[in-house]
Amino acid sequence: MSTDITFDITKVAQSRIDQVDLDDPGFGRLFSDHMLEVSYNEGEWQQPKIKPYGTIEVVPALNVFHYAQSVFEGTKAYYVDDETVNLFRIGQNYERFVQSCKRMCIPPVDREVFLGGIEKLIEIDHRWVPRKEGNVLYIRPFACAFDPVISANPAEEYRFFVITSPVGSYYNKSVKLTTSKRYVRAVKGGVGAAKAAGNYAASFYPARKAQEMGYDQVLWLDAHEHTYIEEVGTMNIFFIIDGVLVTPKLQGTILPGITRDSVLRLANHWEIPVEERRINIEEVIEAGQSGKLEEVFGTGTAAVIAPVEEIHHDGISVIPKEKDRGPVGQKLYDTIYDIQRSRIEDPFNWVRSVQVGNS
Ligand SMILES: *Cc1c(COP(=O)(O)O)cnc(C)c1O
Repeated sequence: MSTDITFDITKVAQSRIDQVDLDDPGFGRLFSDHMLEVSYNEGEWQQPKIKPYGTIEVVPALNVFHYAQSVFEGTKAYYVDDETVNLFRIGQNYERFVQSCKRMCIPPVDREVFLGGIEKLIEIDHRWVPRKEGNVLYIRPFACAFDPVISANPAEEYRFFVITSPVGSYYNKSVKLTTSKRYVRAVKGGVGAAKAAGNYAASFYPARKAQEMGYDQVLWLDAHEHTYIEEVGTMNIFFIIDGVLVTPKLQGTILPGITRDSVLRLANHWEIPVEERRINIEEVIEAGQSGKLEEVFGTGTAAVIAPVEEIHHDGISVIPKEKDRGPVGQKLYDTIYDIQRSRIEDPFNWVRSVQVGNS
């Protein structure tokens, strides 16, 4: 990491680590001792600060509340041993962050601040990386508008934060999906490919409707024809149909998942036939009815590989042959899991190991 960037560091007087249960941290409610905070004003990002995690005081006019000019990222830190914590494909998170910022008119922080800041935080809060198998330290970088002004314009001030949260295993069970005839997630030319805060707000109502019908999440279809599969709430989607691994092609409406890319790279490496293309929902229904739908799984940082046990569309439900992770899903899961923790070779150089003290 570049050494010319300095972080202004203020440490907590007393760590909270002894008051928490890292074996059972839940998801997203518990935060480590420190956070990174960087302000943007007068046209530039200022000196990055690492300081105690805590409240920030803002005014109600803060424009991010009103216009959602805000983007985020999500990645994880993995315990390897008392001196080593791993990060996974973190450079990809930075690249995507820059693209999201561009779409939302937010000036991105420099690569050194993003990557170096995360490493520094991990060094300082390494004791918050859970040791329990399956548990990890979730890392949430985000940038948002910070003008105390309610005019609907791009802001002149911004704030970038990184907060970290010890979390337990996210999904342990298979999920049930339903398509929606009425609602869509993203349109061509919209912000579907950006990790923009507002995308989530817009998805909550249809997701709630799906839950009322007994499904876990919506399987989004394209906005134009309501025919082609896009992705799931927080995950990209894969199908194994008659021995071929298929996933929707990225065409500007789908979030370019890093787990999605890792799955594609591994499948190519293993010489599994792969197709990135448009997938008609009818094709999936027919494959399910004729017994050719072998596996269906979602991919994302949180769950890695989440098996899908049912897909409902227009009154018809199909069930893949494998209701839990099937052989391909399981092999992908195990391989990614083990690479993330340096338990097997890392053929693509995906891991960055952070050396931490053993204090
Ligand atoms: C973050 C996200 C994903 C998964 O991306 P990963 O990089 O694999 O975590 C998929 N879909 C949406 C909408 C997302 O926000």
